[in-house]
Amino acid sequence: MFEQKLIKIGESELMANIKKCPYCNGIPKVKKTLIKFIENDIDKYYVECTDCGAATIQYDTYFGYSVSGGKFRVLSEKEAIGLAVADWNNRRFNSYTKLLHMSYKDKVIWQIRSLLADAWYGAMVPTDSPEWRTGWELRKVAETKKLLVLHSDINYDMSEVARILFNDIQVKDIIFGYLETVNNMNLEPDEIREWNYCFNRFIEGEEYIKPSIRDRISNMLMKIGM
Ligand SMILES: [Zn+2]
Repeated sequence: MFEQKLIKIGESELMANIKKCPYCNGIPKVKKTLIKFIENDIDKYYVECTDCGAATIQYDTYFGYSVSGGKFRVLSEKEAIGLAVADWNNRRFNSYTKLLHMSYKDKVIWQIRSLLADAWYGAMVPTDSPEWRTGWELRKVAETKKLLVLHSDINYDMSEVARILFNDIQVKDIIFGYLETVNNMNLEPDEIREWNYCFNRFIEGEEYIKPSIRDRISNMLMKIGM
């Protein structure tokens, strides 16, 4: 149903105002991509570094957006490009770019936030999945610590809650258990303790971990998209 092709936009007066890539000092370009959606062509605009591929999210001129909290409306081409350029200059990148450049600690916090949000907001996750079970375990810890309170009418900042939870040793155990399940490791209890210890040091940025274990933890995290 989707057909995507990339069209480069020529130099415009906007180009001069785009900052260099903060990751590689490369030259970013405004790009346009066309998506065929059933009967319609949807134009999407974004900024991407031509050297390392760092990119903003894509803004289309088809669906409604609320610009600066205003009413939802369709953007003009110039507005869509303007939003993408503003994102780039203010270092607001797409999720893929953000994840690629995060420390392992921030990636784990990101994962905690995502699992917790599924359990708190009730996402459509299969109830027997490791994601569901882990999300609920995290939710229980957050509720016990009064970081999340049902019927409190508070609009929680899940990233902040995840950041606080990350410092809880019980939460690190939960996340390690999740990784173990997803990676089908089937460790013995003694091994679990050792691996968990290495995992916790690894995500805290500890340098001195056996390379074989360090690489394996890194692969485990990659498997869940981190
Ligand atoms: Zn770059």
